Amino acid sequence: MVVLLRYCTMKSESNPPKQRKTGLRRQDLIRWGALMLLGLIFQSTAWAAIPPVDQPNIIVFLVDDLGWQDTSVAFSGEETAFQKHYRTPHLKQLANRGVTLTNAYAHCVCSPTRTSILTGQNPARHRVTNWTLYSDRDQSGKTQNIAAPTNWRKEGLQPENQTLPQLLKTIGYYTIHCGKAHWGAMNTPGSNPENLGFDKNIAGHSAGAPGSYQGLDNFGNHEDGSPNPPWGVPDLEKYYGTATHLTDALAMEVTAALDVAIDSGKPFFLYMAPYAVHTPIQAHPRFIDNYRGQKYSGSEILIPEEEACYASMVEGYDAALGTLMAKVRDANIADKTLILFTSDNGGLSVLGRNTTPRGTGQNTHNWPLREGKGSAYEGGTRVPAILSWATPDRGSRLQQRIPIVGGSTCNTQFISEDIFPTVCQWAGFDIANATGNVIDGVAITEYLSATQKQAQRSLLFHYPHVWGPQGEGYQPHSALRYGNWKVIYFYGPQRWELYHLEQDIGEAQDLALTEPTQLAAMQSRLIKELKNHGAQFPVDIQTGKARLPQ
Ligand code: CA
Repeated sequence: MVVLLRYCTMKSESNPPKQRKTGLRRQDLIRWGALMLLGLIFQSTAWAAIPPVDQPNIIVFLVDDLGWQDTSVAFSGEETAFQKHYRTPHLKQLANRGVTLTNAYAHCVCSPTRTSILTGQNPARHRVTNWTLYSDRDQSGKTQNIAAPTNWRKEGLQPENQTLPQLLKTIGYYTIHCGKAHWGAMNTPGSNPENLGFDKNIAGHSAGAPGSYQGLDNFGNHEDGSPNPPWGVPDLEKYYGTATHLTDALAMEVTAALDVAIDSGKPFFLYMAPYAVHTPIQAHPRFIDNYRGQKYSGSEILIPEEEACYASMVEGYDAALGTLMAKVRDANIADKTLILFTSDNGGLSVLGRNTTPRGTGQNTHNWPLREGKGSAYEGGTRVPAILSWATPDRGSRLQQRIPIVGGSTCNTQFISEDIFPTVCQWAGFDIANATGNVIDGVAITEYLSATQKQAQRSLLFHYPHVWGPQGEGYQPHSALRYGNWKVIYFYGPQRWELYHLEQDIGEAQDLALTEPTQLAAMQSRLIKELKNHGAQFPVDIQTGKARLPQ
């Protein structure tokens, strides 16, 4: 192209024009015609192959049910005893290269968070407010006096919603889903990630858990290899009958899919969502000996069998992360690849996990946070989050556009729906063009540096359901964080609670009675946000009417 333009210029310079009489000379016409033709060729080529900005590869690595401290990385300023217990060296390496977010949140169960990631909307707006499985059955429980909203989207996310991978495809991305999907209910279009904007789906379907993590169990499918819905994991037949753990199988499959993406010459978006560390809690054979029969680090407390299995699953997801980091490094694209690591809700601290880890008492797996997955308290929603280039390179023009300071910590508030606009910004897509959705999330890239402080914002949580397990905060609720204040409304007892998270991250001291002015301000904010998002409310069983906060 440059050579041809130079040729046109040289031709005109080597034949100085005679005095122009009228209009353009034939020579000029030929020259400009050639330039226009070349320009058109260049433009059409550019439109097809060259993106509007340098586009990074983007990996969203979403671990299922991973608690705030189920990593080797400290998210509270200092390492907790549990963080000494878990081994995640690759995540630690990622944190050393990137930024650790200390105020990151998800919603309290799976499908609401996953739908928020794909739509950029808060659950109060997209209305997939509980986990999904059957489109005609409500998985929600009931209390004595209230039931779930009548018309919440039991069918889950469906193709009529504009999704993040759909948008990324329009600007040239190859899009891959690997692992747990859990968007659309069984036998609906949304149960297949390829109907939600992904070019390639590996092992994702409607279920939110695997029948088994073991290849020897055919990942929960029948002994003869035939599908066993809803819990049998699809697509991984070649590992049936082998001693392959599901997380390892996913890692192997996704590296093969990345070869296709890399060969295509397109940037890729990979949504890597291991089924781990969701129940069933089963040993990862490669790592279980690091924990089984051992004592907690620095203590004489024997690790319970359930916790040994859980820790081996934690180390398993980290190994998968390491596989991906090695893959992009070996393909020489690590400096063009961004990784966002997080979880879809807080760590499980009930059901089969109600053991007494480290002698801290029942249901304290997220200590010092209160409770876990499904609860209104911080243990239910506060999650780990790290953003990093796979390999930092200060000289890279692409990395200068999306700067991330290695080894930094950031207290910017971040919630699942922020992933949509943040990824769009990285990819060079202006979300003002995303006309299909109202976007509730905020692109956070500019707030990752110490110099750019985020304006105070309201983080809204809306779970008008009974999840199931008994415990503190597992009832229908809405909550809102604004600055360091957090207000919770429980629809059953119609009770307000107020906490100051900077002073009391464990939510031990309810300030609703002693801080009436602050409570009133927070109540007002929560009610306003629920209204603005078009929230659906639990139903009073006696009257049949929606029960609003009051
Ligand atoms: Ca989950």
